Amino acid sequence: MIIVMKKGATPEEIQHVIDRVEEMGLKSHPIYGTERTVIAAIGDKRGVDIAFFTAAPGVERAMPILAPFKIASLEAKKEKTEVPVGTGSIGGRRIGVIAGPCSVENRDDLLRTAAAVKKAGAVGLRGGAFKPRTSPYAFQGLEEEGLKYLREAGDRTGLAVVTEVIGENTVELVGRYADMLQIGARNMQNYRLLRAVGQGPKPVLLKRGFSATLQELLLAAEYVLSQGNPNVILCVRGIRSFETYTRFTMDLAAVPALQEQTHLPVVVDPSHATGKRSLVTSLCRAAVAAGADGLLVEVHPEPERALSDGAQSLTFDEFEAMMGQIRPVAEAVGRTL
Ligand code: PEP
Ligand code: MN
Repeated sequence: MIIVMKKGATPEEIQHVIDRVEEMGLKSHPIYGTERTVIAAIGDKRGVDIAFFTAAPGVERAMPILAPFKIASLEAKKEKTEVPVGTGSIGGRRIGVIAGPCSVENRDDLLRTAAAVKKAGAVGLRGGAFKPRTSPYAFQGLEEEGLKYLREAGDRTGLAVVTEVIGENTVELVGRYADMLQIGARNMQNYRLLRAVGQGPKPVLLKRGFSATLQELLLAAEYVLSQGNPNVILCVRGIRSFETYTRFTMDLAAVPALQEQTHLPVVVDPSHATGKRSLVTSLCRAAVAAGADGLLVEVHPEPERALSDGAQSLTFDEFEAMMGQIRPVAEAVGRTL
């Protein structure tokens, strides 16, 4: 951290700040300029509140140098993390596509969808059994019955099962059926839930909150990592903006912006970002071109009959066509599908 003293700060004020830095177990390195003094505080200060210094007399401002997240940062680990997803992985050379319905609605549709997305080249099957719906009157999911259908579909196809966990009390139950636990956008800052999945063995797909900064997303990932679970995939799914034509605004810059800060894989969800089936395929291509490690895509056998998110779900044919279109893009950026 760098602490800049005010012009004219007294020697006592400077010494006071040096004493405070050392009290906190950090080394101080004062630089006396002609106009003002700057004090570099050296050591790991992630637990040290910047206000400890900004509130001291004679201080103009204090600035952190290291990112506030530690285990998630590239400073901690240079090589990319490859997260196991069933028998495959995400974060390696191969782009991992996780696809399936928004919600698990019935066994038959789920088995058909799983077979179709597997055939087209997906590595994971998505589908919510516990749904965090904005309205309490909307379909809330089949809960454990849905988890059973997911497991059956995963076992039949070899796809990894990715499904959402909406509360701490269901982490164990969902973990019995799923290969990867999804934390939804609405729960990105549910810190008890983040800790709970961090204490479990299952890899985590962490979605960015609608209004969360990248730093907040990385700190949410840090909650999981700090509990001992190293397997976190970040998912960008659009953020709130003033635009209403699309459901959210797809900030694709988040992909390289996250990758220059973290070793964790980054996947893109163009379905929730756009809310419109007609836009999903273009954004899948763009996401792969931007360096995404994977995609999360909603697919439904009959989107118009879907109990949730039909408008943004691809049909089986559209999904297959999309996979065909991203293959050359993947190759162009040195990846495979
Ligand atoms: C989902 O992927 O099923 C979902 C609910 O998305 P989000 O949490 O991003 O809104
Ligand atoms: Mn959905």
